[in-house]
Amino acid sequence: MPGTLRFVLGDQLSPGLSSLRGLDKAADTVLMAEVWDEATYVRHHPKKIAFLFSAMRHFAEDLRRQGVRVDYVRLDQPGNTGSFRGELLRAVERHRPDRVAVTFPGEWRVWEDMRGWGDVCGLPVEIAEDTRFFCPPERFRAHAQGRKQLRMEFFYREMRREHGILLDPDGEPEGGQWNFDAENRKSLPRGQPVPPRFTVAPDAMTAEVLDLVRRRFGNHFGDLEPFGFAVTAADAEAAFEHFVRHALPLFGDYQDAMAMGQDTLFHSVIGQYLNCGLLDPRAVCRRVETEYRAGRVPLNAAEGYIRQVLGWREYVRGIYWLKMPDYARTNHLGAHRPLPDLYWTGETPLRCLAEVVGQTRREAYAHHIQRLMVTGNFALLLGVEPAQVEEWYLAVYADAYEWVELPNVHGMVMHADGGYLGSKPYAASGKYIDRMSDYCGRCSFDVARTSGPDACPMNYLYWNFLIENEGKLRGNPRMGMIYKTLDKMAPAKRDGFRADSARFLENLYGTGSVTKPALSSPDLFAAGTTRHQEDA
Ligand SMILES: Cc1cc2nc3c(=O)[nH]c(=O)nc-3n(C[C@H](O)[C@H](O)[C@H](O)COP(=O)(O)OP(=O)(O)OC[C@H]3O[C@@H](n4cnc5c(N)ncnc54)[C@H](O)[C@@H]3O)c2cc1C
Repeated sequence: MPGTLRFVLGDQLSPGLSSLRGLDKAADTVLMAEVWDEATYVRHHPKKIAFLFSAMRHFAEDLRRQGVRVDYVRLDQPGNTGSFRGELLRAVERHRPDRVAVTFPGEWRVWEDMRGWGDVCGLPVEIAEDTRFFCPPERFRAHAQGRKQLRMEFFYREMRREHGILLDPDGEPEGGQWNFDAENRKSLPRGQPVPPRFTVAPDAMTAEVLDLVRRRFGNHFGDLEPFGFAVTAADAEAAFEHFVRHALPLFGDYQDAMAMGQDTLFHSVIGQYLNCGLLDPRAVCRRVETEYRAGRVPLNAAEGYIRQVLGWREYVRGIYWLKMPDYARTNHLGAHRPLPDLYWTGETPLRCLAEVVGQTRREAYAHHIQRLMVTGNFALLLGVEPAQVEEWYLAVYADAYEWVELPNVHGMVMHADGGYLGSKPYAASGKYIDRMSDYCGRCSFDVARTSGPDACPMNYLYWNFLIENEGKLRGNPRMGMIYKTLDKMAPAKRDGFRADSARFLENLYGTGSVTKPALSSPDLFAAGTTRHQEDA
């Protein structure tokens, strides 16, 4: 009996998925496919690939246990065409359905492809809204209507009111204010204990995936093992509960802190679970609110956490779907330098960068301030071409999908959107990193010096950035103070920053290499080698 072919993509692992609604176990088939194109459109971290393939296989098993017919195509299965389109076509031939159902994808690239699926397979393809978010794209469009610039804070307040989260009985913000960020900027005191990490030992299904990823993607940047991610909804839930119990109470206080050898501190490490559907953001926010109301978690922690999930996460998604595809093409500051190799090798005397890149290689994880104020800030100060920075972030983090990565990198870090997402660039000197971490104490550069060969490069690069981008940034009301300081600076000092920066850039890139073409990631294989040869 022909039924519906329900195509579930790798980041759609939610039982309540819109494309699974109304599923008829007798007639319908769920299609899932591990495809080469998705695993390689950037050179994803091996942990990220293994996490997704294993989570997909577990999800399929779960559906089967519930009596659903699942057609699951493995990466190495003979005949696998390597693309969504190809696998859909083959499945249509196998099952002869009368229609196809799918949920709206997470990336523009896939959306463009998906719009052509109906023509290709000659069947109606029903694309259902992705209902796993607080704010549908049309709701965000209404918020953005008539505003030249957006601000997360105003959007977040609307979301709090609309979804009744952390409100007092009068419908006003709990604690009398919307945002407790001012309390959330502490560095980690010496001797402060940090929560234990939550890890899950790989089961047989994950072990099989690890073997596949080792063989096929072992030459991508990043360590595959040890592998400790949850790959089922139950284990992702356990990971979140672990966070709630051990880390949430101090999440707010140490949200911005960084410390040597401490990869996760008081963060939840659930981005990868939320973004592929193993966790539901609404349940997560409700759970945090419950902890606050039970008196187990202070308001600065609960509000700070909910702001990330209900505020930032929804805000960046809203901007992505509102502004793509043009959003990705802007380059407001005209940044053009290539991404330095140290982003792939971690080999640099700057301790902060070595630490964050090293951790990224091991864990496919860095927390927000590490992404924003260390690797992000350095790329901004150098003037790296936004597309190259974006590709790096999309490849190296287990939670990276373009809808969430791009606005964070393009808008928040690189200011390439001219201030649509955030009012000013987050540019900072080494002082910020020193205040929020213990990295600088172990660095061979001196963060207290602003110029000369021993000075922290972030210091003179910071001033150089302001000088190089003066035409674009001086008029920004939030940058007025810093440009006044620059105006008062003795010309010799200014020239010193320029000279130190020129010397640093020369050393970093080598003569003439600042215009070298972008690498699509560490070029581990020679030009001319094809993708398929590379993993043979
Ligand atoms: C340059 C840059 C790139 C980023 N790329 C990604 C990405 O590819 N994928 C991704 O999910 N997040 C990204 N973020 C946001 C944030 O850094 C990660 O969500 C967070 O570090 C994930 O770790 P966690 O789960 O421990 O987060 P926590 O600190 O515990 O925060 C809880 C949750 O809040 C949400 N969140 C927090 N900040 C943001 C934000 N700025 N945008 C969207 N969601 C947020 C995430 O879902 C996160 O899991 C990026 C931030 C920056 C500055």
